[in-house]
Amino acid sequence: MITIANYVGGKFLAPAAGHYLDDIEPATGRPYALVPGSDAVDLEAAVAAARGAFPGWARQTVEERSRLLLRIAEGIEREAEALARAESIDTGKPIGLARQVDIPRAAANFRFFAHAVTQFASESHGMGTAAINYTLRDPLGVVACLSPWNLPLYLLSWKIAPALAAGNTVIAKPSELAPMTAYWLGRICIEAGLPPGVLNIVHGSGPSVGQALVAHPAIKAISFTGGTKTGAAIASVAAPQFKKLSLELGGKNPTIVFADCDREQALDGALRAAFANQGELCLCGSRIFVERSIYEPFKRDLVARAEALRLGDPLSEDTEQGALITEAHLDKVLSYVQLAREEGGRILTGGVRVTVPGRCEAGYFLKPAILEGLTHDCRTNREEIFGPVACLLPFDDEDEALAEANGTEFGLAASVWTRDLQRGHRIAQRLDSGVVWVNTWLLRDLRTPFGGMKHSGVGREGGFEALRFFTEVKNVCIKL
Ligand code: NAD
Repeated sequence: MITIANYVGGKFLAPAAGHYLDDIEPATGRPYALVPGSDAVDLEAAVAAARGAFPGWARQTVEERSRLLLRIAEGIEREAEALARAESIDTGKPIGLARQVDIPRAAANFRFFAHAVTQFASESHGMGTAAINYTLRDPLGVVACLSPWNLPLYLLSWKIAPALAAGNTVIAKPSELAPMTAYWLGRICIEAGLPPGVLNIVHGSGPSVGQALVAHPAIKAISFTGGTKTGAAIASVAAPQFKKLSLELGGKNPTIVFADCDREQALDGALRAAFANQGELCLCGSRIFVERSIYEPFKRDLVARAEALRLGDPLSEDTEQGALITEAHLDKVLSYVQLAREEGGRILTGGVRVTVPGRCEAGYFLKPAILEGLTHDCRTNREEIFGPVACLLPFDDEDEALAEANGTEFGLAASVWTRDLQRGHRIAQRLDSGVVWVNTWLLRDLRTPFGGMKHSGVGREGGFEALRFFTEVKNVCIKL
């Protein structure tokens, strides 16, 4: 049993009250680590450390901050294989995915913001011979970064890196369901020489330490990724205190396939978008709209591909579908499959719990499900399921596809599959979606703005957007 500790003031600390939560390996259903169930006392220690470290860190030159972030990136790269294994054990995701996506991206986040901050310039606005304005951007102080369990180190580092690069000190609260790689990050930061208190990682449940963190008056900004309901709860606490808030929330994303698409590419894209990471990605395309003239053959081929996905022990090299994060989450996903039946849907494949023999026989595995026969506005097609469940919906023309694709309260991401680029541009313009991919999915450039519309969030992360979020602007106007 591994005992995880908080990382506060440059040291590993046990929770003051000695309270721990079980960290369960989803593939086996067994606890394998203990996570601190931190409380307000632990949080106060982190706040004191972060406050104490702020003036020194904010005064560091940009070059020095950049150098330290690069050392953290190198530390992650050095330990990439062990981190990928830890991420796979903690979340149930296939080790191949953790190796190819999660861990390289965590290193890339630190590397990217280490460089980006050296290019982050202030603005100047001349007023002819009358005056000149210039804009200062200063770090905010102590900021909070809260992340979910589905991409643990990837998303935590996506927040921590720009916050630190901009000169803030950070209190991070990883998900209590997948805290292991955040724990390791503490050690990597110590080895990289990050000054004590600049980054503090406090573990524990959302309602206890998460809520106390976002409510704490010392916290100047909150960068949160997680569920829409949690986002609303955080906003209700943060808004009356006028804290800066960036919310990256849920999705119910459309994949729109036109008859003129490159069929192989679209099938691959729709499959990956539906089932990557067991469908546990905010960007997953769980509503697949297919032009009626190709609906039947597309359906047949997609179902065949879903059935061919290799489900099994996440630590096996050839596994493509791992375990869902918890038994409660598996039950929630299964309850949506039942709801789909009650709403008149047909289950074309999957949607049942699977037993993986051997060490994983008590794990939380679900056979990827494809449904059809549901209306676009039923609950199954409006609510976020966050699991390997996708619904096929035929459409006759562009307007119908757009109206239905836009017909949910979410607006995070969409993919459009067509050889007609005019149409690609047209649809992209009209989609209510923070991110639109045409003939691809999940292709990311870290300079681009990332985030959602409607109930998928407020604000954008990525590139200079993140550095703007983590700084306070002051305009100085000088009369000439
Ligand atoms: P969650 O909202 O339950 O938890 C996210 C984090 O918030 C965790 O660290 C949790 O402990 C903490 N938390 C929970 N309640 C809190 C409270 N009252 N106050 C403060 N903190 C609290 O989400 P989850 O189940 O971990 O993640 C799944 C959700 O995240 C899905 O809805 C998914 O779409 C979303 N997500 C969004 C993005 C994006 O970029 N938009 C990316 C990944 C995941």
